[in-house]
Amino acid sequence: MNGPILAARDLHLAFGGLRALDGVSLDLWPGEVVAIVGESGSGKSTLLRVLAGQLRPQSGQVTYRDAEGVAHAVQSLSDAALRRLSRAEWGFVHQSPRDGLRLGVSAGGNIGERLMALGARHYGRLRETAEAWLRRVEIDPGRLDDLPRAFSGGMQQRLQIARALVTGPRLVFMDEPTGGLDVSVQARLLDLIRALVAELDLAVLLVTHDIAAARLLAHRILVMRRGRVVEAGLADRVLDDPQHEYTQLLVSSVI
Ligand code: ADP
Ligand code: MG
Repeated sequence: MNGPILAARDLHLAFGGLRALDGVSLDLWPGEVVAIVGESGSGKSTLLRVLAGQLRPQSGQVTYRDAEGVAHAVQSLSDAALRRLSRAEWGFVHQSPRDGLRLGVSAGGNIGERLMALGARHYGRLRETAEAWLRRVEIDPGRLDDLPRAFSGGMQQRLQIARALVTGPRLVFMDEPTGGLDVSVQARLLDLIRALVAELDLAVLLVTHDIAAARLLAHRILVMRRGRVVEAGLADRVLDDPQHEYTQLLVSSVI
């Protein structure tokens, strides 16, 4: 593969006087998992939303290279073009099921509707695909017609993962996918994410304040503080030999 799948250059975005992004650049290569870590309020979610075209930066560029190798300036795409690209090539997993699932739609519908948005119409095949994905994320396929609110928190996150991956995305944005779950449930979810990411060779941007999750999943880590990347490098290097004082605090769990 020649070149990064996603490249951001010198992103700036302020909310009033607050610099949420203050000159952030990054590259994400095909099949690479990059974790963005930092304490709450450091700008991680804002960065993810800018990279995914959901928020426009005040300056800077985001370039996405699609499956055909065509480069798109994400911040300049029309809403329709962004929606097309996002449906066909991206997946999203959020911390809250409210953001990542349609709570009034069955588990099977949550998975199937993403394929329908890409033109799939064969009801029987959609059900079969949805059942297969429920199995893959370790949910009893007999729960196909249940609403997500009948699921445990861990199951809701696994359903989000099925919904995100069913379309065969090349790039997945995850914002605190294990946040708010019990530790044992988190561990199971992280193992599942790790297995699927490796099997499907996904590029992933993982926002997390969980250092253990970053260590388990990420090839590279970016450390954010007050809208800036204060340290970046291979995951083992950043975690085992942090150079920046803030990373040292983060890794030693003082924060
Ligand atoms: P993180 O995800 O690292 O916790 P965020 O990206 O959500 O941080 O927020 C970064 C900073 O920007 C925070 O101080 C937050 O309060 C502020 N912020 C985020 N979104 C908005 C918004 N829509 N309007 C005003 N301030 C915002
Ligand atoms: Mg956040």
